[in-house]
Amino acid sequence: ATLGEFLLDTVRRFPDRPAVVFREQGIRWTWREFADEVDVLAAGLASLGIVRGDRVGIWSPNRVEWLMTQFATARIGAILVNINPAYRLAELEYALNKSACTAIIAAEHFKTSKYLEMLQALAPELADASPGQLHAARLSHLRSVIRMCDQETPGMLTFSELVEMGRMALETVSLDEIAASLDARDPINIQFTSGTTGNPKGATLTHRNVVNNARYIAMAMRLTEADSLCIPVPLYHCFGMVLAVLACVSVGAQMVFPGEAFDAAATLAAVSEERCTALHGVPTMFIAELDHPDFDKFDLGALRTGIMAGSPCPIETMKRVVARMHLSEITIAYGMTETSPVSFQSSTTDPLEKRTSTVGRIQPHLEAKVVDETGQILPVGATGELWTKGYSVMLGYWDDESRTRESIVDGWMRTGDLATIDAEGYCNIVGRLKDMLIRGGENVYPREIEEFLFRHPKIQSVQVFGVPDAKYGEEVCAWIVVRPGERMTEDEVREYCRGQIAHYKVPRYIRFVDDMPMTVTGKVQKFVMRERMIEELK
Ligand code: ATP
Ligand code: MG
Repeated sequence: ATLGEFLLDTVRRFPDRPAVVFREQGIRWTWREFADEVDVLAAGLASLGIVRGDRVGIWSPNRVEWLMTQFATARIGAILVNINPAYRLAELEYALNKSACTAIIAAEHFKTSKYLEMLQALAPELADASPGQLHAARLSHLRSVIRMCDQETPGMLTFSELVEMGRMALETVSLDEIAASLDARDPINIQFTSGTTGNPKGATLTHRNVVNNARYIAMAMRLTEADSLCIPVPLYHCFGMVLAVLACVSVGAQMVFPGEAFDAAATLAAVSEERCTALHGVPTMFIAELDHPDFDKFDLGALRTGIMAGSPCPIETMKRVVARMHLSEITIAYGMTETSPVSFQSSTTDPLEKRTSTVGRIQPHLEAKVVDETGQILPVGATGELWTKGYSVMLGYWDDESRTRESIVDGWMRTGDLATIDAEGYCNIVGRLKDMLIRGGENVYPREIEEFLFRHPKIQSVQVFGVPDAKYGEEVCAWIVVRPGERMTEDEVREYCRGQIAHYKVPRYIRFVDDMPMTVTGKVQKFVMRERMIEELK
């Protein structure tokens, strides 16, 4: 199915059930109301001249306009380009030109970034352009800038003006005819990776990629139209777009958005006041919720399931989430943007022990193998690079042939992650290939040391990585955030390790920090830490 058909199918089944809640914006729509808004916007985009295959950028925190745009672009076969909410001028210019966006729909601002000012700085020609007719020297493909507010600005359309254009155009634009001309194998999304290991890469995904992935994600959670999912993860990333939004659409479950950006208290309040049955998050979000001083004041009694994913999910955190947040049926998912994204997921029916300690088993209709450096399959239980194959593999990185060829080999996606798969098929992610370090000839897996240190009662979070070393090749370095009100010394950390883990795994460098460098998707950027340490050790 195309993404448009996928939505309409749910609308036909559950027209009057609740579909979307945006708490900050005060929006509550049923599936019918949501689909009607989507169609109006789709007609508006079509009347701007946007057709199948055109790229439309979206630059916004979690707002209802985003959700409408995601489906409106799909309805007319345009390709949605997710622009990183943290981008500044140079990155924005690069992303818009690289994907050759003809239109961009932008929020006013996000945190301290002023989106409109940045667009005006890149395209001063906007001041004299009429809407839809922009010709800017630095953004040569861009014709239309749509801002998410009602205040008029020279050269830009407001979102409501676009919606108004859509209302008028609905009579003349035949969305059904457009829909009939689309193919589920068309690209609909240039979805950027998190940028955990370097610059984000644009994965080109098709309708079929994401629609099918969403169906299996919802199945593993036993999600139905009776469920209500709280979504604090960014729409900018596939966690929000696919694991949250599309999984809900596949079964008619309600989507509840607590706010524009993640906030632990707002998330807990949304779960409690909307009686949410499901909650998604990256591990750092669940930890922030569990550690919130007002945690006990919220009623999480309706919760049942959800997904923890995106980065290694500490067993301790999984156990706390199960015990303290009523999430007895929580699952872990593993995947990457390039595979739409999920390939492994535990299911609510897996034994609890497997659900807290592994990323589950391979999704239906996908294949996986664990290989050595030469691509040879390793024996069951051995650690090697994980490769996956099937309907979910992206078309490629947008406009980047050579990188695509390096990453996809005979249809197999090289994940760059180290994994083991046991005899029953349960997979364990050992860490990233890039993060593994070799100290004096011994392979060291940071994840293992992190799990160990994380059990120390004074430690709130910890990251382990390698830094170059003249004698041993690489040395182990740990960055630690101590729990509020606690103090800790390097000796305490070393003492805790003594006799518990092998001497070569004990961190040589220990630093206590206030926080870790993060991506917008809530992932820790070890490459940034490594650069800082190298600088410091010079
Ligand atoms: P970039 O590719 O830009 O460096 P990224 O790989 O973090 O960033 P994503 O596609 O968002 O970008 O994330 C996919 C990666 O996240 C996986 O390759 C894996 O390393 C990690 N990951 C995802 N889910 C899990 C999980 N459940 N357990 C451990 N790691 C996970
Ligand atoms: Mg990646």
